[in-house]
Amino acid sequence: MTFRPAIRPGAPLLRRDATHLQVGTSPGIVIADRPGLLPLLRLIDGARDVDRITAIARESIPDLAIPVAEVLAELRILGAVFDATRWSGARRRGLDAEARHVDLIGDDPARLSRRPAIGLAFHCDAGARSLVDIAQTVLADSGVTRLDAPDPDLLVIASRAEPSRGVFEQPVRLGLDHLPVVIDEDRVRIGPLVRPGHTPCVSCHDLHRGDWDRAWPALVHQLGRHTAGMTPPAVDAVTSHAAALELAVEVLALADGRALRTLGRCLAVGPEPGDRMTWQVAFHHSCTCDLLRAA
Ligand SMILES: [Zn+2]
Repeated sequence: MTFRPAIRPGAPLLRRDATHLQVGTSPGIVIADRPGLLPLLRLIDGARDVDRITAIARESIPDLAIPVAEVLAELRILGAVFDATRWSGARRRGLDAEARHVDLIGDDPARLSRRPAIGLAFHCDAGARSLVDIAQTVLADSGVTRLDAPDPDLLVIASRAEPSRGVFEQPVRLGLDHLPVVIDEDRVRIGPLVRPGHTPCVSCHDLHRGDWDRAWPALVHQLGRHTAGMTPPAVDAVTSHAAALELAVEVLALADGRALRTLGRCLAVGPEPGDRMTWQVAFHHSCTCDLLRAA
């Protein structure tokens, strides 16, 4: 089977000593040198396939005594050589870096083709605008481009302080997956990502809180009102970027079909940019959301 060999992404091709070559430095893959091997490896550019390289090598590397296809296959098993055909494909234009990353960690880059297909919608107030803008830039760079889809797969609901619970009514009614992002004093809470009827919802979260804070139902009623005069939160630029990045990571995991950290869980970012905290949100016995599940 022919392929388009490329040297390991981001790794320099080096001479280690008189009898060895080395690909990369982290920690590096050591290869026994053979006559003609170094000039052969210098022909590899991710554009020529094995047959083409074999033909060029026959002409230009007279002392090459090794079977080219066999050596390249061997180096591929070692991880010194990759197959560049895996980095391109239908519906993956502009995602070469993503494809090299997925390939290098041993996954199938084909999963990236789902990114242009996923539809997102953002419901955000003025206070959450810049965080959402940052997340959208990262998502667009990562191949998620339907950021204002009329038929979204996920609705992100971002707000400064806890939002009015009214904003969750429609996505719950429509069975639309939704993800709250709350800029809360000195940190940003992401989650729980709600799949209506399948995972614990924001009402479950509120009912659990009401179990230990009897005033919570009365407080919930007032959320999202009188926010005009509120002092802006104490989340600095770096933490805001960190939270936007975590939001993008969650959305990409959803697009790629990988494990989500906010399903039935909350993830808090801050107050320091590197601070992360997660906690579980369980179904509440008196929430009606799991009736949807039974229906
Ligand atoms: Zn619920």
